Amino acid sequence: MNKFDEYKKEIEANHKEYMTLCVDDDVFLQNGNNTSERNAPKGYSWIDYWRAMSGNHESSLECSSCGKMIFVDEIPQMLKKMYGLMGLNENENIALGGHLVVPEPHSHNYSGGFYIAPLCPKCNGQQGKNIKIKKGTALCREIAVD
Ligand SMILES: [Zn+2]
Repeated sequence: MNKFDEYKKEIEANHKEYMTLCVDDDVFLQNGNNTSERNAPKGYSWIDYWRAMSGNHESSLECSSCGKMIFVDEIPQMLKKMYGLMGLNENENIALGGHLVVPEPHSHNYSGGFYIAPLCPKCNGQQGKNIKIKKGTALCREIAVD
């Protein structure tokens, strides 16, 4: 079993309230305010938390809001070159685990609160604003530790 699968198994065993929601149509969700002090269990970054819990372990992802290609690890050399030629800042393509506020539902088959999805730095920076989240996005309920 790889480290992401082990991590997921442990979180699910210790936090019965954990759940993954799938966005079934484009939706606007509030980008959480003041979330920088919140930490994922076991020193994981929020994007690695999302990778483990969603089961999508890829390093190359899509921003859940604007659809831009974003990277968890090193950006491939070829793309770095291309971004340079296009005058783009490669740091805009770093994958971050963003905190989104899911409102308390009318039917209680899931809970409201913070959920994590992959975002580019620009979309992640829209704190307190409602941002579009694309259909098909996996939202992973935040389990935070002190
Ligand atoms: Zn984006």
